[in-house]
Amino acid sequence: MKTLFSSRKKGGSEVAGTSTQAAQGKRRAVPKRPKHVPQRTCIACHQVKPKRELLRIVRTPQGHVEMDPTGKKSGRGAYLCATRSCWATALKKKRLEQELETTISEEDRAALEAYMATLPPSEAAPRAVAASSERVP
Ligand SMILES: [Zn+2]
Repeated sequence: MKTLFSSRKKGGSEVAGTSTQAAQGKRRAVPKRPKHVPQRTCIACHQVKPKRELLRIVRTPQGHVEMDPTGKKSGRGAYLCATRSCWATALKKKRLEQELETTISEEDRAALEAYMATLPPSEAAPRAVAASSERVP
């Protein structure tokens, strides 16, 4: 009978010092990537524009159709340019109703038309620089 004496040396010469736990610094640096701008299509003129340049109209869960200035209301939304012409198209040609798959009540329509009246007629209108126009006598 043979007695196997396996005497293994533990340890020996281990390679020490490959510590991969490098400094785990907090990543604060923002990667240099062009900002992604969400884009939406105006339902009247079908121009694609940055979301923030368009006005959102939402069909609320209660069935109302109203302006959504924050863009955060829940419900089916539609986007329109901030111009009276696009709003007129959307309201008169029922584009808005088709898009939202609903019927706009008279009350809501009145509110939308009132809002429309505050908008510039069209986009071509140059920006008014009236704020700081001091007239020299
Ligand atoms: Zn438009």
